Amino acid sequence: MRKERFLASERLESLPPYLFVEIDKAKRQAREEGKDVIDLGIGDPDQPTPDFIVEALKKAAQDGANHHYALDAGLSNLREQIAKWYLSRFNVKLDPNSEIYPLIGSKDGLAHLSLGLINPGDSVLVPDPAYPVYRSGAIFAGAKVIPMPLLEENNFLPSLESFPKAKLSFINYPNNPTAAVADKSFYEELIRAANKNNIAIASDLAYSEIYYEDKRPLSFLEFEGAKDFAVEFHSLSKTYNMTGWRIGWVCGNRQIISLLARVKTNVDSGIFQAIQLAGVTALQDLTDFPQKMRSLYQERRDVFVSGINRIGWKLTSPKATFYVWAKVPTKEGSVEFAKRLLKEASIVCTPGVGFGKYGEGYVRFALTVPKGRLEEAIERIKRII
Ligand code: PLP
Repeated sequence: MRKERFLASERLESLPPYLFVEIDKAKRQAREEGKDVIDLGIGDPDQPTPDFIVEALKKAAQDGANHHYALDAGLSNLREQIAKWYLSRFNVKLDPNSEIYPLIGSKDGLAHLSLGLINPGDSVLVPDPAYPVYRSGAIFAGAKVIPMPLLEENNFLPSLESFPKAKLSFINYPNNPTAAVADKSFYEELIRAANKNNIAIASDLAYSEIYYEDKRPLSFLEFEGAKDFAVEFHSLSKTYNMTGWRIGWVCGNRQIISLLARVKTNVDSGIFQAIQLAGVTALQDLTDFPQKMRSLYQERRDVFVSGINRIGWKLTSPKATFYVWAKVPTKEGSVEFAKRLLKEASIVCTPGVGFGKYGEGYVRFALTVPKGRLEEAIERIKRII
């Protein structure tokens, strides 16, 4: 065997294995073979960014003043607009100068936060299953990662009774991948548990605007005292179909924010200013674009969930996000089932174990294709289970 000249760092090697490799390969191959693949694997909206935001970008991009390095802390009018949005959406008051910091997508902050807060060997609580970036960011900082199992019998909420001691904990509701939401009593309990153990909380609110039946998800910062130890991450990616633009923010506890800002000053140079200005326009939205998206996803959700239940599954409708977290209906493992779904039905889904070991036994479907394709997917699934 040829000896590699360059080896991965121990840090990189300590990341969990990338479990989607085989699925990715099989997906590419199926496409090359000309198969009609229905891709329910990607958590990326299929709809474009609305025109009024694209127009704002065009205008801002034509202004040479926006072509320079951006300020790390972003434009003050972006921070002010974020503060207005938080106030009107959650009734949370934020100081634009110290309690809000723009990010190159929320992933940027979620990945870098541990570097500012964690010493090697410190414990970080990470939900399992979860968006993988919490864990990799913690591992890069040398943390000891303690998984918090999200179990169906506990509505995919972590158990706070046995909340272990740690320096930092990530939470994420509405949740990817389980689509679970957290209620008032969960957040109140979280405040008590975090206070008792002196834990910093990083709440990931990326999906707060994708909800159904008018059940608007809560922000952790709405709760009295949360700002003493919590930050919240948000982004325009899912709300305004802007995943490729890379714009988000962290808000809340000013001390935690300043630590993250110090890390970022050393690794990047802010968000392209024209994108920041387009972000201001997005947050001023007079068209209520998110409501249009909610109606679209709700229709897809209803088609998919009722269809899949008709063929024998037992799913409850998700209350938020554009994901459906479904128990594997056969005795196969989640990777095995996902591979067969692709091979025999040309449908891509994400095996739950890729989000952590407690995700085993489930697969995630993303409702990021039109309704007709979801109907077609149900027909195909019916033939193979
Ligand atoms: N948080 C969650 C739970 C996600 O699923 C994602 C993306 O899929 C992100 C954060 C990152 O979003 P962005 O970096 O585009 O803001």
